[in-house]
Amino acid sequence: MKSYRKELFFNVPTRRAFINITPQVEECLRESGIKEGLILVNAMHITASVFINDDESGLHQDYDVWLEKLAPHEPVSQYRHNVGEDNADAHMKRQVMGREVVVAVTDGRLDFGTWERIFYGEFDGRRKKRVLVKIIGE
Ligand code: ZN
Repeated sequence: MKSYRKELFFNVPTRRAFINITPQVEECLRESGIKEGLILVNAMHITASVFINDDESGLHQDYDVWLEKLAPHEPVSQYRHNVGEDNADAHMKRQVMGREVVVAVTDGRLDFGTWERIFYGEFDGRRKKRVLVKIIGE
């Protein structure tokens, strides 16, 4: 069995953003040379997510509005998380949107369902963060 590991880096200039990382993940898969197996992609921070959904900008705005209703950023004084920190909402948004995805690798390709793409969800940006890509198979 072969195994491959790579870290992807993101430094999002805004507090929140959704980024389609499917091309980077596909590049990792090419580099790995693995044709049959599993690929894991996970955020390595507790204020960011990796998830799968549609690459449609309206939906991404809808997510942002929905997450702001669930866990508004302001006022930060409503949260008890590490008094003085301002990212309690980012921890909650990450919890809802998830930590990782696993995708089957079949015939050297990501075995997606219809319209599925992989996204990095940033909820407390403006600093360098990492995403882990791990691929196992043969
Ligand atoms: Zn925090």
